[in-house]
Amino acid sequence: QSRLAFVDLQPPDPILGVSEAFKRDTNDLKLNLGVGAYRTEELKPYVLNVVKKAEKIMLESEENKEYLPIQGLEAFNKATAELLLGQDHPAIKEGRIATLQSLSGTGSLRVAADFIAKFLPGTTAYLSNPTWGNHKNIFADAGVEWKWYRYFDPKTVGLDFEGLMEDIRAAPEGSVIVLHGCAHNPTGVDPTREQWEKIADLVIEKNHLPFFDVAYQGFASGSLDDDAWAPRYFAGRGIELLVAQSYSKNLGLYAERVGAINFVLSDAEAAKRVMSQLKRIARALYSNPPVHGARIASLVVSRPELFQEWNEEMEYMSGRIKDVRQVLHDELAKLNGDKDWSFILRQLGMFSFTGLNPAQVDNMTNKHHIYMTKDGRISLAGLPSSKAAYLAAAIDDSFR
Ligand code: PLP
Repeated sequence: QSRLAFVDLQPPDPILGVSEAFKRDTNDLKLNLGVGAYRTEELKPYVLNVVKKAEKIMLESEENKEYLPIQGLEAFNKATAELLLGQDHPAIKEGRIATLQSLSGTGSLRVAADFIAKFLPGTTAYLSNPTWGNHKNIFADAGVEWKWYRYFDPKTVGLDFEGLMEDIRAAPEGSVIVLHGCAHNPTGVDPTREQWEKIADLVIEKNHLPFFDVAYQGFASGSLDDDAWAPRYFAGRGIELLVAQSYSKNLGLYAERVGAINFVLSDAEAAKRVMSQLKRIARALYSNPPVHGARIASLVVSRPELFQEWNEEMEYMSGRIKDVRQVLHDELAKLNGDKDWSFILRQLGMFSFTGLNPAQVDNMTNKHHIYMTKDGRISLAGLPSSKAAYLAAAIDDSFR
């Protein structure tokens, strides 16, 4: 008998486990709407043209494979902070932003969670209810206590703004408030600009530390600038804040693990000290980040002709998702005109939060071979419009 016989079996991850189940299904009709990954109309993974162009440039310049510094590729860190805040942002000019390249969004969140555990012990992180399933794991494993704030109202299929404000007001002063920069996962429901302004007022009043998770910059509106509005607005109000960035979705660099953690602070001295500690944390976790994707991202962001093309591809991808939303909505309205399906059109980003309960999700999978997360979320990025009618019929059947 093994000395580890007492270790219990961990259930599959709620999101990545869906892909594993999908792979085992042999039915031709099967559709994987679980993970948030972009697919073409032909259901193929999509490598952006700008990524191929950047890789060609890299190949021609015969880049080496030496270790990066602990904080990552300098050109990437500069480019990613500029993409986030805008090129001429005072925080960048004044050197009061600490940017560390990390292992995509997840690794960036984890480095910051470790920093919070180490330097702000006893601070609770408040997560939107619901949120991306891994947020809980990340804070819990770092030893940071987390609690919910209200976010989604199933009755309106929209934002529970009053509940959100009440809960953020009731949180102890100086709490970490985790906010989705845009295209909230899983609901696709974002605050309006007026609501963001009120959230910022309250964050200032309560001296909270906002922590933006920006995993979908460009995917909500199709515009990289518009989608960074909320963190830019907070920074403009003089609020100190944390921002985790990911290039998994907007550059399609899922497996390359490209992202960054940014601390926007009040002065350069603090930024320098924080940076030294972020490096200490990263050193023990993984030593230094991978170089390939960081080179791609820094080339695409810093070369005007590539940046222009990226923006066009971004608009194309987010446009295809918007078209698919419309087709799905129209098909559902045809099948059941008594129900208001307009929430599908209002939701932003890659996902739609359907309102299907776990038993109905089981029906979607077991009867219709459609794979999705138990919370009722579907990734429209993985839906070709030719399959929208099939999906609509399955949703309609599952609601009956
Ligand atoms: N944050 C949110 C809200 C996400 O939805 C995701 C990915 O699905 C991530 C962070 C992190 O993804 P990655 O680690 O691939 O950047």
